[in-house]
Amino acid sequence: MSELSVQEEIDKYNRKELRLYELSPDARAIVTNSSEQDRLGFTPDFVFRAAGTSMEKQRQTSLAAVQKLVAPNEVPPMQFEPEPTNPYDQHALKILVATARDSSGRYTCFEEIGYVPRGQCPNCGKSLTGKTFDTADHCPGCKAPLRTADGQFIDPKTHLNVYIGKLYREGRIKFSVESVTSAPGKPTLGLAVAIKVLN
Ligand SMILES: [Zn+2]
Repeated sequence: MSELSVQEEIDKYNRKELRLYELSPDARAIVTNSSEQDRLGFTPDFVFRAAGTSMEKQRQTSLAAVQKLVAPNEVPPMQFEPEPTNPYDQHALKILVATARDSSGRYTCFEEIGYVPRGQCPNCGKSLTGKTFDTADHCPGCKAPLRTADGQFIDPKTHLNVYIGKLYREGRIKFSVESVTSAPGKPTLGLAVAIKVLN
């Protein structure tokens, strides 16, 4: 597949052939500056995909409800919930999203959608599963190196749940549902989350 220019990426995004999280950092910056600022209330620094969204049937049901609430100029609110007693990962960070509105229009019924992934490629932004993250030296998608020669991760952001958990505890983060995602040919829904780091 040939490389797209930034303008070609933006054209594809506007035709809804590419999602925000699939764009290169340069194309994403241009797109987000124009539209995401209005929709999310901030310009995201990066976007990641929630992990575990298809692990339980209920999460797919909840995501379908979230999808109905996503409008061109508004997205339902989300929350993080640290889960230090999680038996698999003490840094687990749960993602809850409003799935309904009450009679006065307020968002309500926050339900568990999934988790912040443990790992993310610092080059293409792709979420990496726990197993891939723990064992891979290169991103399976873009092939960018994840580790230095001595086995250390290149970018602290690759430990995405640790990184976001820390910012969250320190109150240095803005976050929002970016979109409910669906891949062509796949029945499962996913969640893209937008992040802005405050200084
Ligand atoms: Zn990558």
